[in-house]
Amino acid sequence: MARIIAVANQKGGVGKTTTAVNLAAALAAAKRKVLLVDFDPQGNATMASGVDKRVAKPNGCEVLLDEAPIEQAILKTEANYDLLPGNGDLTAAELKLMDAIARESRLKDALAKVTDRYDIILIDCPPSLHLLTLNALAAANGLLIPVQCEYFALEGLSSLLDTVKAVRQRLNPTLEIEGLLRTMYDVRNNLGNEVSAQLTTHFGDKVLRSIIPRNVRLAEAPSHGQPIHLYDRSSRGAIAYIGLAGEMIRRERGLNAASQETNDVV
Ligand code: ADP
Ligand code: MG
Repeated sequence: MARIIAVANQKGGVGKTTTAVNLAAALAAAKRKVLLVDFDPQGNATMASGVDKRVAKPNGCEVLLDEAPIEQAILKTEANYDLLPGNGDLTAAELKLMDAIARESRLKDALAKVTDRYDIILIDCPPSLHLLTLNALAAANGLLIPVQCEYFALEGLSSLLDTVKAVRQRLNPTLEIEGLLRTMYDVRNNLGNEVSAQLTTHFGDKVLRSIIPRNVRLAEAPSHGQPIHLYDRSSRGAIAYIGLAGEMIRRERGLNAASQETNDVV
């Protein structure tokens, strides 16, 4: 059974897509079976994975509306992870779903059909807390929150955490915070260091140890339709995402060991 992780933050431009794509590629390079779900109508994760969003059909839209089986929409990518592509059709799906029954659990139900084929499923969320993101949070075991260490970074987090609370109460009691990931980090920036310190004060060990530096190669890679480790594997950005993949694998081992211990006790 795959662990399902939503990459979400309703702020745009904080590094959600960059993280989803490059973490998917880094985990695949570490021999994990990975599915990346592009759940943002902008389709950036699809394009950054080397798939043309304009011709990707069926995609997440048809899957959400039960018009195509998920298996039919999933594609293989050059970096050895699978992709459920997304594009502007997702906006139409979100609107059509407004009146549907069980509208928040469509993605969860669709992923249930393929979860035994993967070790990890990553969902790249749109910059909002509307129905697409709610579907992702309802399906997920963990929430990975990219945070750009800038002024106002913490302000947005409180409404995200309120949403997590509401989702736990009504849709998915097992949703956990996987971690907060500092992105586009520049050590020379005093404000960044200050915000980073505030994050640690507020969220303690929920702040991941891995830090993603600001690195121009990470910004260039999507226009080549490649994750960073195919575009420039020795760049600081590539190394940082490999480090993040390692941290998540170690965390998961820790979680498994803990649940094994609980099983042993019970
Ligand atoms: P989101 O998905 O949260 O909107 P993106 O991942 O698309 O954010 O990132 C926003 C912009 O910043 C993109 O142009 C992306 O290429 C760039 N970017 C993201 N992470 C980095 C980084 N670590 N260093 C440099 N540029 C980055
Ligand atoms: Mg994005």
